[in-house]
Amino acid sequence: MNKIEKQASLDKLKKTIIDDKVCPELADSATQLVFGEGDPSSEIVFIGEAPGKKEDETGKPFIGASGKFLNDLLEKINLDRSSIYITNIVKYRPQDNRDPTKLEKQAFLPYLMSQIEIIAPKLVITLGRHSMDCFLPKRKISEVHGQPEKIDGITYLPLYHPAAALYNGSMKQTLIDDFLKIPKLLQEI
Ligand code: URA
Repeated sequence: MNKIEKQASLDKLKKTIIDDKVCPELADSATQLVFGEGDPSSEIVFIGEAPGKKEDETGKPFIGASGKFLNDLLEKINLDRSSIYITNIVKYRPQDNRDPTKLEKQAFLPYLMSQIEIIAPKLVITLGRHSMDCFLPKRKISEVHGQPEKIDGITYLPLYHPAAALYNGSMKQTLIDDFLKIPKLLQEI
């Protein structure tokens, strides 16, 4: 698929989530669906957990405090936000920023998989434990962060979540160090 066809497929998938009434309670309490944004043909997809307040208000992923930190991290490795694709597992904001439940993650998983299938990236970067669990279950993020794993032709890189690392000095440095490995990893795959 070329870029235009991929974008059309993503638009269709977004509409399917609404038509299928995925997680109706979350949909009712949220302002809008936060589907994802970026280059539909990107080699890299970043996957977070769920939208927060700012994301819910704007419909765009990672634009609050953790999004600003993510932008700083991307800048460190000269990656432009428009050249990557960013999304979340759960696509409606859970009220009061609580963690998404197992059922909510399960409900959105098939749509997330379709989203990845359409984009067909080389590298999927999971941000935080919830996102890692979808692709690399039964790992401990404290043990496997920064270590790529290839499954069925896609390389997965589990990283700490920027929101968790933002106010924790040592985790923040670990996330920066892990991020700095991305350019070399991309060259290798
Ligand atoms: N945290 C996430 O996991 N996703 C967002 O979009 C914003 C904050």
